[in-house]
Amino acid sequence: MTTATATATAGEPTDPADHADPNVRADLSDLDAGIRRDPAAHRVLTGDRPTGPLHLGHYFGSLRNRVHLQRLGVEMFLVIPDYQVITDRDVADRLAEHTENLVVDYLATGIDAERATIFTHSSVPALNQLLLPFLSLVSVAELHRNPTVKDEIAHSSQAAVNGLMLTYPVHQAADILFCKADLVPVGKDQLPHLEVARTVARRFNERYPHPDGTTVFPRPRALLSAAPLLLGTDGGKMSKSRNNSVPLGADEDTTARLIKGAKTDTDRRIGYDPVGRPEVSNLVLLTALCQDRAPEEVAEEIGDGGAAALKRTAVEAVNEHLRPIRARRAELAADRGHIRQVLRTGSERANALADTTLTEVRAVMGSL
Ligand code: ATP
Ligand code: MG
Repeated sequence: MTTATATATAGEPTDPADHADPNVRADLSDLDAGIRRDPAAHRVLTGDRPTGPLHLGHYFGSLRNRVHLQRLGVEMFLVIPDYQVITDRDVADRLAEHTENLVVDYLATGIDAERATIFTHSSVPALNQLLLPFLSLVSVAELHRNPTVKDEIAHSSQAAVNGLMLTYPVHQAADILFCKADLVPVGKDQLPHLEVARTVARRFNERYPHPDGTTVFPRPRALLSAAPLLLGTDGGKMSKSRNNSVPLGADEDTTARLIKGAKTDTDRRIGYDPVGRPEVSNLVLLTALCQDRAPEEVAEEIGDGGAAALKRTAVEAVNEHLRPIRARRAELAADRGHIRQVLRTGSERANALADTTLTEVRAVMGSL
């Protein structure tokens, strides 16, 4: 199976066909050559909110690219943004359990814990402190314009929008920039946030250069996969918090039940047309990704079989593909001591780096 599945999409979050933004990496294989020559010149930061189990959208949207990049030798930082949970709900429910389960999923899908730094927001105080100067670099109007934040406000369980919801993309800039990451493998919903991180880096560098003219932060780039926006069973973005996901750790029967309940349409002829028939095309793409084939070929094979045949094929493909990952997941989940140790070690490494970056930031700002 090829893991180099990245393709480009760009800034406008509702049009997967738009490949215009040069700051969103076009092709991971294109990038591979440069990385193979000098993996130490790159660094990856990405992460997932501890709000529930990881799902197929995470796996095909970001996780596989992370594993691929790590195998190429790029240093990997994975933040579990526990403070971000309370952007759209009053209390973070089962936080420790969700956090540990994320680590289980990372390791089960192939992340090498020895070479990755996996940590939570709340365990790295200096990272959070970067938020203060960074907030001064963006306007309130810019915060209000963010389309992903608007969508999350629409789905929020809170009656009023809290301040953290509006400002968390700037917090995310601190996640990326504290470790000076240049590559951020994410889903399409994150593109506006990557733009914020790039803006924060640019404005900070302009406002506070080192005395010798060099700058503190790199300009990070989003890295999208072939599935930058996998749809859930209701036809909206597959999300942990929207009751529409197929979790990576679900058993085979549950997977079958969830996929069989997915929204489709009544046209018996199966085709691959992400714009005209998004739900059907989503299942075709999912099958194709599991089987490492072209979506058009999968659609052609199912032909006039209708949604029922498509769903049967998708269920088999997903269960087959995830079988070894789920077996590994079960083993890892049984050793909680190991998972906690991974988080402790990650937090130590992240703290050391965040302290260094914060010292550098304070020095250029004149506050040391
Ligand atoms: P929540 O509903 O709690 O916000 P989520 O499913 O949206 O959960 P996040 O933790 O917000 O997951 O996102 C983690 C990463 O996974 C981000 O890079 C995001 O872009 C990516 N991602 C999430 N959902 C999808 C999806 N459906 N398709 C592709 N990528 C996705
Ligand atoms: Mg989300």
